[in-house]
Amino acid sequence: VDLTELSTRVRGQPYSGEPLGAFEQVVTARAGAGQGRGRFQAGGTVSALMTCALAAGMIDGAVLTDRDGFYPRPRLVSDPVEVLECAGSKYMAAPTLAAVNEGRERGYRKLGVAATPCQATSLALRGTNPLERDDWTDVVSLVVGLFCTWALEPRKLEAFLRERMDLTRIRAMDIPPPPAEVLVVDLGDEKTEIPLAQIRPLIPGTCLVCPDMTSEWADLSVGVLEGRPDWNTLIVRTAVGAELLERAVRDGYLETGTMPEAGLDHLKQASAAKKKRAIVRAGELGLLNNDGEGRKSMLRISAEVVERIMA
Ligand SMILES: Cc1cc2nc3c(=O)[nH]c(=O)nc-3n(C[C@H](O)[C@H](O)[C@H](O)COP(=O)(O)OP(=O)(O)OC[C@H]3O[C@@H](n4cnc5c(N)ncnc54)[C@H](O)[C@@H]3O)c2cc1C
Repeated sequence: VDLTELSTRVRGQPYSGEPLGAFEQVVTARAGAGQGRGRFQAGGTVSALMTCALAAGMIDGAVLTDRDGFYPRPRLVSDPVEVLECAGSKYMAAPTLAAVNEGRERGYRKLGVAATPCQATSLALRGTNPLERDDWTDVVSLVVGLFCTWALEPRKLEAFLRERMDLTRIRAMDIPPPPAEVLVVDLGDEKTEIPLAQIRPLIPGTCLVCPDMTSEWADLSVGVLEGRPDWNTLIVRTAVGAELLERAVRDGYLETGTMPEAGLDHLKQASAAKKKRAIVRAGELGLLNNDGEGRKSMLRISAEVVERIMA
């Protein structure tokens, strides 16, 4: 990913390397009284935003991530009940974007996508018509990004957990914010905690060169609010995102509050640390800012911004 070029084309400004990327405001949020209850991961903000966008006609379908047995499964939905069925984080790299292609083929023209940072980056790249096709139309109208430090490789996680539990009993998983350092597996009648040190080897190598913790290329980005697991942190990034937030609050889908300064500082620190780690790792792999024919790069960021991030 050439972040300088992507930022210029998508946001009309060069990539700054600021920890949270470009944004208008940060608030706290959770599903409001007008939003049906579900097995939300945290405050239900992602589900509420998608439900509101569907009801308002801002999108004609939502590309979400459901579960198929143990594995995450992309799902294209247009009904509030189906949005609720997809609630909850599957802490695995998921082929969510396959459902965007399916939506295009089925005639959808205004899709909303709930996306991890890598998926949001991919959608932003696609939106710039990189292959310069004459018949190109972007069918994605809204991206609600998730915060993500890393995901897990599904096949490796399945093998790891299979040795420790009956996979059919898994109802949900959670990785609470630091200092917990555990993956919590909810088995219905009991919860099992697995130290993150044991599952870190299951992280795909690509996550380790990802510089984006807060889905910087999304319209809105949502994560867990530090110290309040039933609330979310919500970052508003674009005019589309601001319009949806205003509507969601007005129509009772969402309630919002003031983001605590300390929480915002910790979020910036964690995001900045992810950028540093990614640059170091890409450098170690020889995949940062290579020029010339045949010299592949995973990341391209201007030297000045690299220096600022590493300072
Ligand atoms: C792999 C992963 C890592 C994460 N890491 C962090 C983190 O480090 N810090 C943090 O604050 N938050 C992280 N989150 C986000 C957090 O778990 C919640 O998704 C977020 O706070 C939204 O909560 P909610 O209650 O609004 O979500 P809900 O209303 O329950 O909706 C969750 C939505 O996430 C989508 N989804 C679930 N799994 C995936 C997936 N694998 N890929 C794409 N979309 C998916 C579903 O479609 C659903 O619509 C991570 C999420 C994932 C999937």
